[in-house]
Amino acid sequence: TSDEILLSIEGLTVSYGAVEAVRGIDLTVKRGEIVTLLGANGAGKSSTLNALVGLAPRKARRMLFDGTDLLALPPETIVRRGMTLVPEGRRVFSSLTVDENLMLGGAKHAARGNPAAVKTNMLELFPILAERLHQKAGSLSGGEQQMLAIARALMSSPDLLLLDEPSLGLAPQVVDRIFDLIGNLRDRGLTILLVEQNVVQSLEIADRGYVLANGRVELQGSAADLRASPEIQDAYLGA
Ligand code: ATP
Repeated sequence: TSDEILLSIEGLTVSYGAVEAVRGIDLTVKRGEIVTLLGANGAGKSSTLNALVGLAPRKARRMLFDGTDLLALPPETIVRRGMTLVPEGRRVFSSLTVDENLMLGGAKHAARGNPAAVKTNMLELFPILAERLHQKAGSLSGGEQQMLAIARALMSSPDLLLLDEPSLGLAPQVVDRIFDLIGNLRDRGLTILLVEQNVVQSLEIADRGYVLANGRVELQGSAADLRASPEIQDAYLGA
């Protein structure tokens, strides 16, 4: 972790017609950190991530990523600047092969690196995908599809990876593998903003966290402080 602020959001709101999903949140992510965004269903976590990459209707006083004003950029440009979202529900292209899925992740963003070189790197990080390279993505297990969704996002060589509930619906052992992977990615220098329902494991791996409730930040702090806080203990850790 450095002190360099990579992402800085002030007064973010997301509204879908009359529904205010996010109501004026401030959020920062420093380079090298894992920051986790926690909260109940409907708290506004996915809307926040989607808003960051321009995929949800957003307003903000300020939205800066690596010195760039995000409010001025369309989604495809945001990816090229180095921020990529892995959306909830691991949306891989089932009828395409693993290899084709990966190349789609790299194709649009060739500006950020040589896709072939990035892919070689990726297959080292995900040996299971190397073994399944010419298999249809739809034939992979849920955990493998999540790996593929993450690998595809990494093909754009992001500086900041946004992960929306990567462990959702996966068996406990597979969840452990996903969290190990997230730790490996951080060790390789990636900065990560992680939305999770899995509060215990998220606070183990994260540096800091925010807890959203009804579209507002209810609690924030270091992961250690959050783990120890009575609010988290009561609401999520079953103390
Ligand atoms: P979950 O874990 O259930 O996805 P979340 O914390 O990620 O919860 P959001 O998905 O951001 O929460 O949803 C926040 C609120 O906005 C909810 O009330 C949801 O119904 C609403 N919402 C989300 N997306 C849309 C949309 N496209 N149109 C209308 N309302 C939406």
